[in-house]
Amino acid sequence: MSEQRFPVSRLDASQPDFEQVLNKLLDRRMIEDADVARTVADIIYQVRTRGDDAVLEYTRRFDRLNVDNMAQLEVSRSQMEAALAALEPELAEALRHAADRIRRYHERQLQSSWQYEEDDGSVYGQHVIALDRAGLYVPGGKANYPSSVLMNAIPARVAGVKEIIAVVPTPYGEDAGGAGRLIFAAAAVAGVDRLFTIGGAQAIAALAFGTQTIARVDKITGPGNVFVTAAKKQVFGEVGIDMIAGPSELTIVCDGKTDPDWIAMDLFSQAEHDEQAQSILISTDREYLDAVHDSITRLMPQMERQAIIATSMQNRGALIYAPDQQNALAICNQIAPEHLELSVEKPDEWLPGIRHAGAIFMGRYTPEALGDYCAGPCHVLPTSGTARFFSPLGVYDFQKRSSIIRCSEQGAARLAPVAEKLAYNEKLQAHALSAAWRIPGRKA
Ligand code: NAD
Repeated sequence: MSEQRFPVSRLDASQPDFEQVLNKLLDRRMIEDADVARTVADIIYQVRTRGDDAVLEYTRRFDRLNVDNMAQLEVSRSQMEAALAALEPELAEALRHAADRIRRYHERQLQSSWQYEEDDGSVYGQHVIALDRAGLYVPGGKANYPSSVLMNAIPARVAGVKEIIAVVPTPYGEDAGGAGRLIFAAAAVAGVDRLFTIGGAQAIAALAFGTQTIARVDKITGPGNVFVTAAKKQVFGEVGIDMIAGPSELTIVCDGKTDPDWIAMDLFSQAEHDEQAQSILISTDREYLDAVHDSITRLMPQMERQAIIATSMQNRGALIYAPDQQNALAICNQIAPEHLELSVEKPDEWLPGIRHAGAIFMGRYTPEALGDYCAGPCHVLPTSGTARFFSPLGVYDFQKRSSIIRCSEQGAARLAPVAEKLAYNEKLQAHALSAAWRIPGRKA
């Protein structure tokens, strides 16, 4: 069978050129290039200066929607509720079940305000406040992600955000009765306040700067393609963003004892998102890699999204042989994948060695697909190696903190000499006097 095997890269970590080959495979330049950045900068400028008109123009151009006013792009709460009411009962139940699990998981993430009092009666602490308005990006170009509506909106609702505006480039006109309906129903379940069927950089710009119809938000969250992630980077600072969540990635570490067909399908489940998605398997068992390679070859023709899966697997996928566990862990940490499946007998023994991963799926019975929809944790996760410093989207992304400082008279008198000393050293006289005058008898 080996001669006709599907052409996916085979890498061997014991070979001297491994680092070079792996780095090429992980080349982040595939994610964004200068042309994308320029296109996005222009879209942002147009939306910032021309508002709704520019949003409508780009929506006609990129999403091929025949629209001439923003009202045609807004889905009202009653339309969302109607979409939910019209769903087949089993589907509505599945949405509600997933939503309940996501809510319960995220309720554990709520941060609370705290304070402590010192012996002179001074109080210090942290005040936690939900954002006023959040903008949620739900991707929708090549596939529909009702689950992403839940994964973005529920943490925001749990945090107590006052207004949630979601955007999704749903094929509204042509497919309002199909996949779009499930997006609208999910928005009803998750408690989205306003929903617009717009996408790409124009949607990000509209949320960041506001238009005549869309109110500017305080933070934008959610995954998207290269245009969306480039736009999020460019508006950051004007508005908060959660992270860079681009084309999806899965790395699986397997000890060679999981059914190879399961692993092949797990790899496909990631690859079917997008031609730029990345699925990688690492194993310490060479024969097992052959078995998975054979499963990939055999199962590929059965896949409905074969064209996307094949492109992704051929261009960005890999089966990697690692000589031992330590080596496999080092490769995982170098990849810093969005999703990591530890398909091994004792995943707890591997966990302490994992430094960078968005979400870790432990054991043979935890395929990433369960986390994508309904396990509970958020599926909006850092990609492109940014798990080195970003965390999954969570309630904490929709809360912010203010410091609380409340000095008593005695406390101020204690602190003022310290502040005064440091302030004079910095040649900031007003700071020094402002502090010193709180000390009894210091103000002439
Ligand atoms: P998308 O919603 O991200 O992008 C669609 C938009 O891209 C369109 O509305 C259009 O405005 C814009 N666009 C397309 N071509 C353009 C061009 N030539 N110039 C300017 N703008 C253009 O949908 P998508 O394309 O399907 O991508 C979704 C991405 O999100 C995939 O990469 C998928 O892997 C990823 N994803 C990630 C997660 C996660 O949690 N990380 C979850 C779901 C999906």
